[in-house]
Amino acid sequence: MSESVESSIRDLHERILTCTLCRLSETRHIAVPGEGPTNAKTIFIGEGPGRQEDLEGRPFVGRAGKVLDECLQSIGLERGQVFITNIVKCRPTEKAGSWVKDRKPATDEMDACKPYLDRQIELLRPDVICTLGDTARSEVFKRFGLEEDTIGHVHGRLFLAGNVRIVPLYHPAAALYDNSLRQIIMIDFQSLRRLLSQSKLTNF
Ligand code: URA
Repeated sequence: MSESVESSIRDLHERILTCTLCRLSETRHIAVPGEGPTNAKTIFIGEGPGRQEDLEGRPFVGRAGKVLDECLQSIGLERGQVFITNIVKCRPTEKAGSWVKDRKPATDEMDACKPYLDRQIELLRPDVICTLGDTARSEVFKRFGLEEDTIGHVHGRLFLAGNVRIVPLYHPAAALYDNSLRQIIMIDFQSLRRLLSQSKLTNF
C-alpha cells in the first residue's frame, strides 16, 4: 500500500484522538479510531466503542470482540487481516444510578463523526464492507443510498453499491445473550467466506 494511504490514515487517526466535535469527547478515556492493515480489502464497522475499547483505544477488544474474533477464525481470517472500525469513535454512555452504561449513539453524535468514517472508506477503498448490528447497517445503507430495511431481513445478504459489496451482519454482542442468534451469525459468516473466496475479494 502506498505510503500516502498509510500516512493519511495515520494523520486521520491522530485527528480522531484529539477530536472535540461532540459531547462524547467529554466522557471518553481514549478515542477509538479503528485498526487494521491499510491494504485490507474487507472492513468491519460496528456501532461504537464499549467500556473496554474506551480504556484500550482499540475496537472490539471486549466480550463482543471475542465473538468477532471467533467468527473471523471460523472462516479462516485473523483480525489482523481486516480493518475494524465503528460509526462513532468515542464511547457513548449514560448514567444508570451510580453506574455508567453503554447506549446507542445519538444522531448528532453520528453526524459529527461521519466525516471520519467517510474518509476511512475513501482512503481504504474496501471491496467489502461488513456492518455489525443495525446501527452500523442503517448508517452505511444511508451513506451508499441503499433502501432502508431491518437487520432481521437483510442479515447475511449481499448488497451492491457501485464497486463496493456490503454485507450486513448481526452485532456479535447479540450472540452473548441469544444462542439462536449465535448460530445465525456463524451461518452468515460462512456466506461471507463464500463471497470472499468465490470472488477472490480479499487477501486471505
Ligand atoms: N461494540 C461495537 O460496536 N464496537 C466496538 O468496538 C465494541 C463493541
